[in-house]
Amino acid sequence: MILITGGAGYIGAHVNKLLNNSGYETIVLDNLSKGHKSAVKWGDFVNADLSDSEKVREIFQDNDIEAVMHFAAFSSVAESVEEPEKYFKNNYENTLNLLKIMKEFRVRKFIFSSTAALYGIPKSIPINEDSELKPINPYGESKLMVENLLKDESDFGGLKYVSLRYFNAAGADLDCEIGEGHDPESHLIPLVLDAALGRRDSISIFGDDYSTPDGTCIRDYIHVNDLADAHLKALQYLEEPFNDSNIFNLGNGNGFSVKEVVDTCKKVTGIDFDVKIEERRPGDPDILIADSKKAEEILGWKPQVTELEDIVESAWNWHKKIHV
Ligand code: UDP
Repeated sequence: MILITGGAGYIGAHVNKLLNNSGYETIVLDNLSKGHKSAVKWGDFVNADLSDSEKVREIFQDNDIEAVMHFAAFSSVAESVEEPEKYFKNNYENTLNLLKIMKEFRVRKFIFSSTAALYGIPKSIPINEDSELKPINPYGESKLMVENLLKDESDFGGLKYVSLRYFNAAGADLDCEIGEGHDPESHLIPLVLDAALGRRDSISIFGDDYSTPDGTCIRDYIHVNDLADAHLKALQYLEEPFNDSNIFNLGNGNGFSVKEVVDTCKKVTGIDFDVKIEERRPGDPDILIADSKKAEEILGWKPQVTELEDIVESAWNWHKKIHV
């Protein structure tokens, strides 16, 4: 049995689907603060908060957990800048708690949702796993604290972990059974699609004076199914007894500016909408593009949905299904 914390959330739900389709049994733990019960269509479900040690212990007592995939976390850069303490508590303290309970039950395999936000403002592009770790926002800082903890638990405490540093997760399940939806929404593609559907008056571009060709931030958008596939491969990697703990970037290796994303959304939807240029959002680096060669070489992972248009189209199909 695989425990998936945050399995009612965007990425966790896609991983839950893939694991079940690949013959694994899963149990999802989620407090539904951000996730959706309707996204848990596979495996068992427990509504619990990771700070509730008794309830978490019960899950380990009642189930034969062989590995934990840990998605439960807050993930908005903007919110983390406004309420840092919330991020350290939920993202760091709750992970500490989970690892402590795993240790009590001798569960040693752990897959962690990490992030490109660890790299802060990178010195060179594309970014590989050895690049300097210098987050510029509390979200990235809280994830770095977990990675440091994982390293020590692995070096000295018997834990075997894989940390997956996602670049910008995007798109939706190609069967349209699950997709992205935050409340309130803060991520670029669903916000732009909201504008296309008339659910908002316009889309705001946060800053057009960055050091990029069109002045807007460049990000590496990676399809959520490709992220899910990396988790499956990471689990298989940890199942090999001689493999060590490891860290992998997950991105396409292609960068797209915010303006390019907006234009692609207009093209895919065939709908025009207002675009406003606003102030920079605090905590945003100019360019983040992944070097994911290590995941390709060691995990045998290769992204399948690599065209931005295809990524946006899958997101659009889901968006229409939910909101029209
Ligand atoms: N962004 C924007 N307008 C929005 C939301 C996001 O211009 O309404 C920009 C944001 O500043 C960043 C990029 O889009 O440069 C991706 O942001 P998102 O929040 O989707 O992901 P993040 O990079 O924070 O993980």
